[in-house]
Amino acid sequence: MLRLAIQKSGRLSDDSLALIRECGISFASSTYKLKVEATNFPLEILFLRDDDIPGYVRDGVADLGIVGQNVLVEAGAADLEIEALGFSKCRLSLAVPRGDAYGSVADLQGKNIATSYPHILGDYLAGHGVQAHLHTISGSVEIAPSIGLAEAICDIVSSGSTLLGNGLREVETIFRSEAVLIAAPGLSSDKQELLDQLRFRMQAVRRARRSKYIVLNAPAAALDQVRALLPGIKAPTVTPLAEPGWVSVQSVVDEDNFWHLTGQLQAIGAEGILVLGIEKMVG
Ligand code: ATP
Ligand code: ZN
Repeated sequence: MLRLAIQKSGRLSDDSLALIRECGISFASSTYKLKVEATNFPLEILFLRDDDIPGYVRDGVADLGIVGQNVLVEAGAADLEIEALGFSKCRLSLAVPRGDAYGSVADLQGKNIATSYPHILGDYLAGHGVQAHLHTISGSVEIAPSIGLAEAICDIVSSGSTLLGNGLREVETIFRSEAVLIAAPGLSSDKQELLDQLRFRMQAVRRARRSKYIVLNAPAAALDQVRALLPGIKAPTVTPLAEPGWVSVQSVVDEDNFWHLTGQLQAIGAEGILVLGIEKMVG
């Protein structure tokens, strides 16, 4: 049985649960339980505050965890990371009051900076040869300048609207984060085997999320051009249409490239382009 710790309620929770479910793992959902056992995979899920997850995994109370790299690195536990998961992307930035002059990080020399990330910020400043006074506070960091606690802050920024609302402007991004899977050091071979199965499933889900299945009709004369655009996993599937001189082509494409590609396909005469989501992608 593997024990996986995820955030109980917050910005990591929904995507962590969705990933587990898309791996085909079922469990009863309940909003008040702190622990739930999967019904079709030897997995127990613990629901915790995200800040506690690295410590629980380090101590082996949980075998695995899903947590933001910001929290992991701040806890000095970067060595536990085994795989980036591609969600809950955010950045840690320095911000100063909008009217204050700011040229470079050197301007923060000797200043007071409020943050919940003293280790990450301390390393960053040291790397730039800047010494500042760090005030560690656990929340509402962005009000620190307006109440006279600090001349700058370092915090998670997503849209920037919180900064704007507090009269601040972002001046440096010091760290980029996403959710990662972490594992306790020295798992037993039984647990390691289950972890390998779980990672195999997670990778299949992530590949599928990045890909689309595309079906289109094209003039047979344009087939070489279509094939050049659609390499597929091995090669596209090509079948003749009842209409002479036309073929149906099926392939897998990368989501990122998708709109550009459909434009190119239309330009060489493709028609009836259908795009389907893929649930899992293995091998
Ligand atoms: P907890 O109560 O578990 O301690 P929290 O308030 O510390 O929760 P959340 O705000 O839920 O944390 O954020 C959890 C994690 O989600 C952050 O540590 C970060 O990795 C990521 N995150 C934060 N803000 C965003 C955002 N705007 N978009 C995406 N991910 C974010
Ligand atoms: Zn937290």
